[in-house]
Amino acid sequence: MIRQLRVKTNAKTELVDITQGVQRLVTESGIRSGLCYVYVPHTTSGITINENTDPNVGRDILKELNKVIPFDDNYGHHEGNSAAHIKSTIVGVSKAVMVDEGRLALGTWQSIFYCEFDGPRDRRVYVKVMKD
Ligand code: ZN
Repeated sequence: MIRQLRVKTNAKTELVDITQGVQRLVTESGIRSGLCYVYVPHTTSGITINENTDPNVGRDILKELNKVIPFDDNYGHHEGNSAAHIKSTIVGVSKAVMVDEGRLALGTWQSIFYCEFDGPRDRRVYVKVMKD
């Protein structure tokens, strides 16, 4: 069974903390020990795990990604959003997190972030919780 989260983004590039939503789906699954797989079915999005306390960390990640992969660089892709496709490939579209005693086994300062690279949009995140 694939569970889904909806994510509404508000900016062209943005990191959205989805940890609470993913944890809710883990809890609803009733699975106490296993693996949670988080995946975005989009070509201009990503999933990452990083610091949840200082919002500047997310801003710095986006700032540097935007610097390395400029929005305009004579790309060939006709849709005009090649930078977003490239960022999606670099960051990746999924993460796996262990589930222990019904909780995502994240570090104290870690959260799961949906990465928007071509917003604002309404997006979906697929979540699969697998038992040991
Ligand atoms: Zn495109």
